[in-house]
Amino acid sequence: MARYTGPVCRLCRREKMKLFLKGAKCDTMKCPIERRPYPPGEHGRTQLRRKDSEYLVQLREKQKARRIYGVLEKQFRNLYQEANRQRGVTGENLLRMLEQRLDNVAYRAGWGASRSQARQLVRHGHIKVNGRRVTIPSYTIRKGDVVELNDKAKAMIVVRHNMETLDRTVPPWLEAGGEGAQVTVRDLPLREHIDVPVREQLIVELYSK
Ligand code: SF4
Repeated sequence: MARYTGPVCRLCRREKMKLFLKGAKCDTMKCPIERRPYPPGEHGRTQLRRKDSEYLVQLREKQKARRIYGVLEKQFRNLYQEANRQRGVTGENLLRMLEQRLDNVAYRAGWGASRSQARQLVRHGHIKVNGRRVTIPSYTIRKGDVVELNDKAKAMIVVRHNMETLDRTVPPWLEAGGEGAQVTVRDLPLREHIDVPVREQLIVELYSK
């Protein structure tokens, strides 16, 4: 259940791109990437001039995926091994499994402004899957599952605010219902439905060394 608790904007600066980890702040000029689009630390600016090695490019791609979904290294590696065991393209399997996390579904449904906020909704018991409370953010949703907010969460100001103001369209593999407080998993996500800026093939190359 561990999670990263350090400063998150550093993570975006490290990847030299917006990873949208903070919700509302990410779309404003307060976003540090707007003012300091180079890696953090004393030698951050000089890294912009450096030519990245093949290994570094692969490593950064893996770190980017981990940070977007809020998964620590050990769990991510386990997911990779599971993706490798499954049939099909390993990289796509990996991204699909990350998308199937319950905290990600709560984020995609527009209930949390960020994946970490969605994760908190799950941890605090505000999300039900097929009518039962689930408090595990990494819980894997399956085709046909119905994910919904509980009555308390439906009335929460922060959730209502997110549902009314976030300009987030539910991806085609989910079907919204219950006035936005419920989503049904129509199918498992395909690669073209996953809009994260990650080149999954590089992650596979890194782990298969
Ligand atoms: Fe990343 Fe958002 Fe922080 Fe900008 S505000 S650096 S996008 S987490």
